[in-house]
Amino acid sequence: MLLLQSRMGFSNYWYLIVHIPYLALLLYASMNIQFDFYLKSHSKGPGVAKRVAITFDDGPHPEHTRMVLDILDSFSVKATFFCIGKNAESHPDVLKCIDEKGHIIGNHSYVHQTWLDFMPPFVIKNDLLKTNQLIIDAIEKEPLLFRPPFGVTTPSMALALKSLKMECIGWNNRSFDTIATNELIMKRIMKNLKSGDIILLHDILPKHKEVLPRIIRAIKDASFEIVPLDQLLDVKAYA
Ligand SMILES: [Zn+2]
Repeated sequence: MLLLQSRMGFSNYWYLIVHIPYLALLLYASMNIQFDFYLKSHSKGPGVAKRVAITFDDGPHPEHTRMVLDILDSFSVKATFFCIGKNAESHPDVLKCIDEKGHIIGNHSYVHQTWLDFMPPFVIKNDLLKTNQLIIDAIEKEPLLFRPPFGVTTPSMALALKSLKMECIGWNNRSFDTIATNELIMKRIMKNLKSGDIILLHDILPKHKEVLPRIIRAIKDASFEIVPLDQLLDVKAYA
C-alpha cells in the first residue's frame, strides 16, 4: 500500500514536472505571434530596402482615427489599419475615409476578445466573415489581412485562416502606445528600428496628435521609407 502510494505520488509529481512546463510553453507560444508556432505570421518584412510599415489597431474611432488620417496626409504617408468589426459597424463612414485616402484596411476580429482565439475554427471563421462583410459593405473590398486580437495565435485560428485564405499579420516593433508616455513610445520605436519593421500603434488614442508626427519625422530623418503592408510584405491586401 505504501509502495503504491509512493508510486502514485511520484507519477503525479512526474506528471506535473512534464506537463506544467509543456502547457506553459504552449501558452507562451500562443501569446507570442513572432514565434510562428501554430501558424506562419508575417511579423516583419524583408530587410533588403530601408522600408518600414506603420500599422494601427482597434479603430475605427470617430475622432481619433480621423485625426490620425489628417496627420498621415500631412506627411504623405500611407499606413495599414486593422479594424474591429463592431467599430466598423458603428463608423462605416470612417472606414470609407481610410480607404479613400489610400490606406489599407485589415480585419482585427468582430469581438476583439482573447477567448475568440481558443474557440473552435468555425466560431473564429464566422467572426472573421462577419467583420469582412462589414468592411465589404463600407469599401466594396474583401480584406485578406488579419491581425489576431492581442497577437494570440492557436491551432483553431490557423485552421480558420487557412479556410478563408487570409494572411496572419503580427508586428516586431511594439511601442506599447496604449500605456507608455510619449517619450517612451519614441524611445521604444526608434531604439531598434530596422529595415522591414512592422510598427504597432493604435488609432484610438488622442496622444497621437502629439506623438505620431514625431514618430513619422524621426523615421524619415533616419532615412526609412514608410509603406503600406502590401508593399512591405509583397502580399495582396484584398481578394
Ligand atoms: Zn487590438
